[in-house]
Amino acid sequence: MHIPTPPLDLEHARDASFQAAVASESGQCLASCYQCGMCTAGCAYTPDYDVPVHQVMRLVQLGLREQVLSCRAIWLCASCQACTTRCPNNIDVARVMDVLRHMARRAGHAPEANVKTFADSFLASVARHGRVFEAGLAAVFAIKSGRPMQDAGLGLPMLTRGKLALIPHEPTGNGKAEVAAIFARFNRFADQGAGRHSHDDVQRSGTPKASANTPKARSDTAKDSAPTTEDGQ
Ligand code: SF4
Ligand code: SF4
Repeated sequence: MHIPTPPLDLEHARDASFQAAVASESGQCLASCYQCGMCTAGCAYTPDYDVPVHQVMRLVQLGLREQVLSCRAIWLCASCQACTTRCPNNIDVARVMDVLRHMARRAGHAPEANVKTFADSFLASVARHGRVFEAGLAAVFAIKSGRPMQDAGLGLPMLTRGKLALIPHEPTGNGKAEVAAIFARFNRFADQGAGRHSHDDVQRSGTPKASANTPKARSDTAKDSAPTTEDGQ
């Protein structure tokens, strides 16, 4: 289903530094997108997006920060990388979508609240147990999403087939401590970057940093993906 986007106010909504901020954080040259549409053609979520992925790229080029950060598409993206694979200009489009989601999160936008709730609950479970505790995650998500009974019918069959454990199966050895260290590193990063990552991604400028496929960029992604909230699991 295609949901039409509202008319754009190009005179007042434009933020000239937005493209540079996204380019800096993603390491991608957004200016090289020439709107061929190959990314959208290969995206399985296009029928569900309010803004197709090639149009997301165009909105970034135009500096329409609010339209981009408030759209549903960046939250529905499955990071499957089909768009990245198809882009003739070698733009890591999936990485751009990922960065936009982080920016939206920092700006307080979460139009797909359940996606954010699930991500927060998942990461909180990993932080607490060293790996995800599925039964706990399902319970926390059901409660936080306001649909406590939605998947209740699946629980018993999964339990009887041994697909769900009732107690967490935590890593042995140093595994849990190593995972805890990753979260601690993220928290330090978040503290240090509080200014850098506040509303003013837009204040940032400059040339794109290293490719998203470098260890540095992958490390940044992992940091940004860590939870910002604690859950009650
Ligand atoms: S990574 Fe996201 S935008 Fe790209 S093809 Fe997959 S779902 Fe679509
Ligand atoms: S495939 Fe690449 S060049 Fe084509 S519209 Fe998508 S991002 Fe732009």
